[in-house]
Amino acid sequence: MSVRVRFAPSPTGFVHIGSLRTALYNYLFAKKHGGEYILRVEDTDRTRYVEGAIEGMLSAMKWAGIEHDEGVCLDENGKLSQKGEYGPYMQSQRLDIYKKYVDELLDKGHAYYCFCSKDRLDTLREIQRAEGKIPRYDGYCRGLSREEAEKRIAAGEDYVIRLKFPANHEIVFDDMVRGKVSMNTADLDDQVLIKSDGFPTYHFAVVVDDHLMKITHVIRGEEWIASTPKHVYMYEVFGWEAPTFVHLPNILNSEKKKLSKRQGDVAVEDFENKGYLPQGLVNYIALVGWSPEDNREIFSMQELIDSFSVERVSRSGGVFDTNKLNWINQHY
Ligand code: GLU
Repeated sequence: MSVRVRFAPSPTGFVHIGSLRTALYNYLFAKKHGGEYILRVEDTDRTRYVEGAIEGMLSAMKWAGIEHDEGVCLDENGKLSQKGEYGPYMQSQRLDIYKKYVDELLDKGHAYYCFCSKDRLDTLREIQRAEGKIPRYDGYCRGLSREEAEKRIAAGEDYVIRLKFPANHEIVFDDMVRGKVSMNTADLDDQVLIKSDGFPTYHFAVVVDDHLMKITHVIRGEEWIASTPKHVYMYEVFGWEAPTFVHLPNILNSEKKKLSKRQGDVAVEDFENKGYLPQGLVNYIALVGWSPEDNREIFSMQELIDSFSVERVSRSGGVFDTNKLNWINQHY
């Protein structure tokens, strides 16, 4: 089976240096294994959508020399377009696909309509917090019949569709960086799959799309590892083979905290504007969280492709060191 990986940014603003590294590792892994690297835009959260963010992200990737084989791209006039046979690659253009798969879950009893108002959920959360419990949906709408639910929808009531987790089911997967991860469904909230605006949540769309786009390895930031059991469960109920998961450690600042905009440069364009060379930045960022077998520090893109291996990605966060970046940048 040929390797297929994807970089799946959400168009919510500037391109964080951590996203550049995620894209780079996906690209290196694909090229090393003669596979394909796909760029999918995850634009289902309409409240966070930023106009122009997709174009900005594509030009940052182009500047960095991280070119994808399939997915959303810019045509010769700088207009958004798409290439590849598994599209559309913008999630907002795939709503009918998500509908088809959520209907399958509803039909099989793995999902249900939920009409709980925001007020009810807020009150529920408050009560649970006051009782020292982790706020969790109480399954109030689980027992509604499909018929009853459809009547309420026809009457114009707002609803979401939730995943129905079984009471006590162990979900296990192997992460190539973190090793074995397990979670019991008793600790999971009935995940919203389709929101009241008709758009899927990230969790639902990511599973459907990774499956349909034949993704073999999901390489992404470690902030998603806690969500992965939910995804693995969905693969189980659909009867699909789950991809292999690779969760990358955070990029940290010198105080060992997650690198954030408040402390200085984190956007790829900040580095570009300061005159860093794309080869220098890419070479440096590859080494934040991954180490080659020898202690070489200067790599061309081809040398990175040849040397890269997921086995040498570190479990702990990589510290971003501007002095080191400057030192590497001077070699170009
Ligand atoms: N859209 C998600 C993000 O912006 C992608 C997570 C994933 O790769 O599954 O981080």
